Amino acid sequence: MGLRRRQSGSDRQGKAPTVSFVGNPNVGKSTLFNALTGLRQHTGNWTGKTVENAEGFCTHRGSRYRLVDLPGTYSLAAHSPEERIACAYLGSDRADAVVIVCDATALERTLLLGLQVIRRFSRAIVCVNLMDEAKKRGLVIDLDRLSARLGVPVIGTSARKKADALRLMDGVEALLAGEEERPVTPDAPVDTAADYALLEEICQDCIHTDPTRRVLDREALDRFLMKRWVSLPIMGLLLLLVFWITLFGANAVSSVLSDLLFAALGWLERAAEAMSLPEWLTGPLLDGVLRTVAWIVSVMLPPMAIFFPLFTLLEDAGLLPRIAFRLDRRFAACRACGKQALTICMGFGCNAAGVVGCRIIASKRERLIAILTNAMVPCNGRFPALITVLTILLLALGAPQAGGLLPALLLALVVLFALGATFAASYALGHTLLKGMPSAYVLEIPPFRRPQIGKVLVRSLIDRTLYVLGRAVMVAAPCGLLIWLLANLRIGELSVLTRCTGILQPFSELFGLDGATLLAFVLGSPANEIVLPILFMIYENSAILLEPSGVGTLANVLFANGWTWKTAVCFVIFAVLHWPCATTLWTIRRETGKAGLTLLAAALPTAFGLLLCLLFTCVCRLFGI
Ligand code: GDP
Repeated sequence: MGLRRRQSGSDRQGKAPTVSFVGNPNVGKSTLFNALTGLRQHTGNWTGKTVENAEGFCTHRGSRYRLVDLPGTYSLAAHSPEERIACAYLGSDRADAVVIVCDATALERTLLLGLQVIRRFSRAIVCVNLMDEAKKRGLVIDLDRLSARLGVPVIGTSARKKADALRLMDGVEALLAGEEERPVTPDAPVDTAADYALLEEICQDCIHTDPTRRVLDREALDRFLMKRWVSLPIMGLLLLLVFWITLFGANAVSSVLSDLLFAALGWLERAAEAMSLPEWLTGPLLDGVLRTVAWIVSVMLPPMAIFFPLFTLLEDAGLLPRIAFRLDRRFAACRACGKQALTICMGFGCNAAGVVGCRIIASKRERLIAILTNAMVPCNGRFPALITVLTILLLALGAPQAGGLLPALLLALVVLFALGATFAASYALGHTLLKGMPSAYVLEIPPFRRPQIGKVLVRSLIDRTLYVLGRAVMVAAPCGLLIWLLANLRIGELSVLTRCTGILQPFSELFGLDGATLLAFVLGSPANEIVLPILFMIYENSAILLEPSGVGTLANVLFANGWTWKTAVCFVIFAVLHWPCATTLWTIRRETGKAGLTLLAAALPTAFGLLLCLLFTCVCRLFGI
């Protein structure tokens, strides 16, 4: 039995003591960490979203502490990357105190890791979180008794209450101030079976049920909701509802925003004229950079500001892990991992975020499949273009819009198509380049929890909407300049942009597109959201981006340039299946460390997309459609 001397980091270096938070996924570590540090480490109701250590500082009663939020871990056996990160950190002796966060509603299971940490780490404190949930379920936990049985301090918290987080820090403070060191056995082998038996006995001793409380049988509710014929339609309907609200709401807000922004731009243009600013300055700056930025903001901001909060609400309520669970067998059939369903969901927001999220998949082979196929689901940047073109497709077919319901249904079909393509590509990879058997893994299904609506709104607006928008604007601004140059530099009679269109025309026709569309996709590589604006710029033979106007006007421009419903279909296929945007490619390169795999990630969806467009065009020709 080893006795660890007290020599904390603070003593050694005179720095703020380090307090690390460990625990199973989904027990509220990040919520506690955020409450104490004021940071916005992403919290969500699913396993493994914290895939890196997050660090922050907190000042409590005049003392400063460095807090480290470790990725969710089930044991110290280190199977998955996040477990390895957490174990390496704990093994490195960098923490002065460890807070073991457990779930009060599943103490027996979530304390297993705690027991392992308590034996290895002398300055440990157990935080029994989710006490509010336990109370609702009629569970009464005797924290003093638990503390006596475990031999470490135990604090009960509801992480969503700041006061509870502060009480926890009081406990940490007392722990660090204590002189006595608890004996530890860092090298003792792990005996999971014996530990479970011990925990069962401890929990029986310390947990009682309150017979006076009538509790909702959540497990029965969950069992009902997890039935295939219940869960899939409900999830489908919910997603459809999200798309519909996004479509319906975004159109109205978009036009107001575009009126405002373009009015401001007009004012700037008049001011520049009044000041007689030279053309070489106002052209690239106002017509190139600012117009593109105004376009992006007015087209992208409304759908994102609606989609992200709604999606985050579904995530926070515990819906996404259930989708992963339901889709698990299908992914296993593709020799991929069920957790890929979660990374796909992240991809709907942003493919780059989805690629980083793939770290939650432990097997390298399955992780690569998930990374290489992530960009096959349309990200938020592609939704506005898809929505516009789908509406135009209906116009071309003379179909009614039905208050946005029909476009929303079509969009849902496109999402299903994207999912189908992802499955097909995963299957192809899992049976060829990345052969192997699907691995076993633990997928924790969190209980349905009432989402924190206020926090979700703020979090998704600031963390996601503004982040993605900011990134799009950063890429779009220089891109706007480049496109302005291409549209204004002339070779002979024609602009460089038009000449490039001509070069691409014969190739594009093979795939049911035209040169302008393909060029718009190429030039839109920095950020998918500018593909459509560029296309209109080319069609209007305009040196500047026009104001985003109503769908009817846009449709007329497209039809005047030879678009038919078939072009719209090919556009939609190619918008879903083409190379990922520059940020995603850069992220793939960073995550895989290989240029070859990055190339493959670009080539795979592009090949799929071109093949499908070719097939569609050939079938149309064959049947004379
Ligand atoms: P982590 O995976 O351990 O970092 O867990 P998170 O902090 O992301 O929390 C997972 C979910 O549980 C989030 O939806 C939180 O809002 C919710 N949550 C965390 N702590 C509590 C709590 O004490 N009570 C309730 N009701 N919900 C909580």
